Formats: sequence, structure tokens, C-alpha cells
Amino acid sequence: KAARIPSKKTVEGFDFSFQPSLSERRIRELADLSFVRTCTNVVFLGPPGTGKTHLSLALANRALAEGHTVLFTTLAELAQSLESASHPGLMRQRLRRYIAPSLLIIDEVGYTRLTAEQAHHFFELVAARYEHGSIILTSNTSFTGWGALLGDEVLATALLDRLLHHAEVIAINGGSYRMKERRTESRSP
Ligand code: ADP
Ligand code: MG
Repeated sequence: KAARIPSKKTVEGFDFSFQPSLSERRIRELADLSFVRTCTNVVFLGPPGTGKTHLSLALANRALAEGHTVLFTTLAELAQSLESASHPGLMRQRLRRYIAPSLLIIDEVGYTRLTAEQAHHFFELVAARYEHGSIILTSNTSFTGWGALLGDEVLATALLDRLLHHAEVIAINGGSYRMKERRTESRSP
């Protein structure tokens, strides 16, 4: 089943004034999608509520509008899908599903620790897309924590080597927009 991408998240709908550590110019440059054409990856790093998923979906919508093939998934979903394959042929078929699109979004890297098998398949996928197709990845966990996440420092180093060789890393160091909305609500009568 194809992942449905919520179409209402756009770059225009993003309030850059709420996130001063984020360069609006950089995001607008990404929105021209040259990163998709050059197979460059984009990594959004930051705490919850800082707009990582919003910006990923906004870029995904731009890419879809330009006729690119796009697949959106979370790391948890991806890891589960690649683990439950009962035989190698099925596994290759599932891997192909994640390798084929010109843009793959892997959201929420950091919330789930991977088993050894899942970590291996995550590495295989990143290696297969290396210089072949773009990945947008979001994480609340800085790269130094990825060894623990994958349960394997050597594998994490090899994965990050490929992921980051051609990549834009965008760190967002602001507050949560969800909390801002909550505060606004509690202030209204
Ligand atoms: P993250 O993925 O970093 O946890 P989200 O992108 O899911 O955060 O953002 C949480 C909610 O707040 C979403 O509904 C998103 O559209 C909205 N949001 C976050 N940052 C902004 C912003 N700067 N301007 C407008 N909406 C925002
Ligand atoms: Mg998110």
C-alpha cells in the first residue's frame, strides 16, 4: 500500500519566525528540488515539535508536484517491514520498494532501537540508495547516539559515512510548536 502524504504541509505554511535557528533561505533552496536530482540527502535534526516532519512533508509535496516518485515512512515502520519477510526473495522485493522511489522519507529515527537484523537492513537500504536516490531523514538523536540506536558502533559509522557523504544536515535548535499552540490555547478565554 502506498503511503499517503498529507498535502496540507507546505513551505509557505511554515512559520520561520518561530524557528530563528533555521535558515529560511536554505529551506527555500531545498524546495527547488535540486537535491533530488543530485541524489543528495537531507537530514533534519532536532527535538520534538520543531517542524522536522512538517518540512519533510512540504519537500515531499513539492517533489510529487514535480512528478518525482516519493515514499514516506517512519523508521519503525521500515524496520518492521524489513524484519517480517519470511524468505530472502520477499526481503529483496520489500527492499526494492524502498529503493525504487526517487525520494524516500524516513521519519522519526531515534524513537526506536533496532534489533541487529533491523539495523543490518537499515544499513543495506542506505547503502543501496547511496548516489542513487535521495533520502530525507528526521531524527531527534544526534549522530553520536546512532551507535546505541543501531546497537552497533561500526555499522552506525558505515551507515553515517554513506548517508552524510552527499547531504545537507539541518539542525533545528528551537522550541516545540506544539507547546506554543498549547500556550496560545490556554491564554485564550
Ligand atoms: P517534529 O516532526 O519536529 O516533531 P512536526 O513537524 O510534527 O514536528 O510539528 C508539529 C506540529 O506543529 C505540526 O502540526 C506542524 O505542522 C506544526 N509546526 C511545527 N513547526 C511549525 C512552524 N514553524 N510553523 C508552522 N507550523 C509548525
Ligand atoms: Mg515528527
